[in-house]
Amino acid sequence: MKKTVRDIDVKGKKCLVRCDFNVPMQDGKITDDVRIRAALPTIEYLRDNGAKVILMSHMGRPKGQPNKEFTLAPVAERLGELLGGAVIFAQSDRVVDDGVVAAVAAMKDGEILLLENTRYREEETKNDPAFSKELAQLGEIFVNDAFGTAHRAHCSTAGVAEFMPAVSGFLIEKEIKFLGEAVNDPKRPFVAIMGGAKVGDKIPVIENLLTKVDALIIGGGMSYTFFKGEGLEIGTSLLDEDSIELTKKLRQEAADAGVDLLLPVDVVCAKEFANDSETLVCDKDKMPADMMGMDIGPKSVKLFSDEIAKAGTVVWNGPMGVFEMSNFAGGTRAVAEALAASSAITVIGGGDSAAAVKQFGLDDKMTHISTGGGASLEFLEGKELPGVAVLEDK
Ligand code: ADP
Ligand code: MG
Repeated sequence: MKKTVRDIDVKGKKCLVRCDFNVPMQDGKITDDVRIRAALPTIEYLRDNGAKVILMSHMGRPKGQPNKEFTLAPVAERLGELLGGAVIFAQSDRVVDDGVVAAVAAMKDGEILLLENTRYREEETKNDPAFSKELAQLGEIFVNDAFGTAHRAHCSTAGVAEFMPAVSGFLIEKEIKFLGEAVNDPKRPFVAIMGGAKVGDKIPVIENLLTKVDALIIGGGMSYTFFKGEGLEIGTSLLDEDSIELTKKLRQEAADAGVDLLLPVDVVCAKEFANDSETLVCDKDKMPADMMGMDIGPKSVKLFSDEIAKAGTVVWNGPMGVFEMSNFAGGTRAVAEALAASSAITVIGGGDSAAAVKQFGLDDKMTHISTGGGASLEFLEGKELPGVAVLEDK
């Protein structure tokens, strides 16, 4: 168990808090502030318990240079509105300079200050100890609450922890709890659902999950590479040529581990990669040579839904089809509905899968939707994330 802000005395302490304020912007305006709102519980807790709250985050890719397009000024403003009080924005093209040090020194208990975009400095993504030290001089306790960047060892996500005690905020605490319990201490049967585009990207996840799950469901674009491994015609479907042999190995590993491996039994095919394309629903061994698989068919939906209904825990990563096109969203929607209807612990990891669940309006029905696409994948691979590894154990 990792220490959280609740496990330490923060009164009067300068808390250096890494948030995920990497919000979408258009013409200098924040178009979606959900990440800022998600950070409020930790910030409010620290403020209300008398800490001096120094916030830092990256936004976009300013490539190690100051760039007004990526300033956190609009975030400071929005934060102030949400918190109902001013947030000091310590603008500096160097992120830390004498003026910023002085502004922090002048802070009173319960005040909140935001630093400029940490990626204005090229040292940030290199985890350069010199920049970590510059940041670290501003605080006494490091609080990491940015799960979305926890899989990166950067100055603001990991490096600063060399210089002071580190604990998690409420967001990371929640991610570790739900992802960790689902993977390492699941209520059984434990069913994992994998989908998305390429098998290659997800092989480490599949291999790790095969050692833990009771059943593994595979759908989406990656299933055609498995079909190809069986010698089936897959037409013009997505194929990950380099992974064909690997799919055979994964089947063997599943059999050896006694894991039920479920693949689609039918397919929604299309002539072209377009929503208005001519379509055909067929069994997996009847795919025409001039069509591509775009979604799982109704028999597969039934097969997968029945498995989900029996589960105690379900972890889902990767959509079942090209859900961005309404005519090929049916399989992904049906699986999301099966999760919503089940009494299992349901955990969604992966950016597109989370987007799909939200698109269907089923996000409230899930136990946990991870906020970090890449970070949740690395977690499911069984890796320890650098931004989590630096946190003190209880
Ligand atoms: P996540 O972000 O949840 O980890 P991925 O990024 O791996 O998921 O995959 C998502 C993408 O996979 C989506 O854009 C979706 O359109 C695509 N996809 C799913 N099924 C297919 C398919 N049959 N053919 C082509 N692309 C597919
Ligand atoms: Mg994705």
